[in-house]
Amino acid sequence: MLKQFIPDQYVKSVFEISVEQLKEQGVKGIITDLDNTLVEWDRADATERLIEWFDLLRAQGFQIVIVSNNNEKRVKHFADPHKITFIHSARKPLSKAFKTACKLMNLKREETVVIGDQLLTDILGGNRAGFQTILVVPVAQTDGFLTKFNRRIERRVFHTMKKRGLIEWENSDEKN
Ligand SMILES: [Mg+2]
Repeated sequence: MLKQFIPDQYVKSVFEISVEQLKEQGVKGIITDLDNTLVEWDRADATERLIEWFDLLRAQGFQIVIVSNNNEKRVKHFADPHKITFIHSARKPLSKAFKTACKLMNLKREETVVIGDQLLTDILGGNRAGFQTILVVPVAQTDGFLTKFNRRIERRVFHTMKKRGLIEWENSDEKN
């Protein structure tokens, strides 16, 4: 069961994801979470750096779809100014929204990567739907709605990831 929670890659932020490596792997599409993956959950708009990242990805030929469990108002306000396709109220970790996003891009699963900050929604959902997954450190501390059970799973997964050398930086238990 634990295997389903292990991402293929773990990075400190989306900006650390190697575009070159994605291209080498044949990735052409990105399904990304919004809250605490791209920006803090309470930040309404994209940052300058993020807008540059979107531009870079597009210039390199990638398609992007935001798949968020948050509501339409939040996701639309964020995505529309940058003309990014989105699926709101996605009900991750259920597979449906991931598959829909993949179809919207007209890509195969192997050509698509799922990026997110939560093991129990983004990574579990992405893995179960058969995608490559990349976990990022949350942009902001979440507001503590995770249950004790969830935290225990997360701790176990992080322990396993450390043992497998998936966490390359020091003090990986701490937020930076
Ligand atoms: Mg998130």
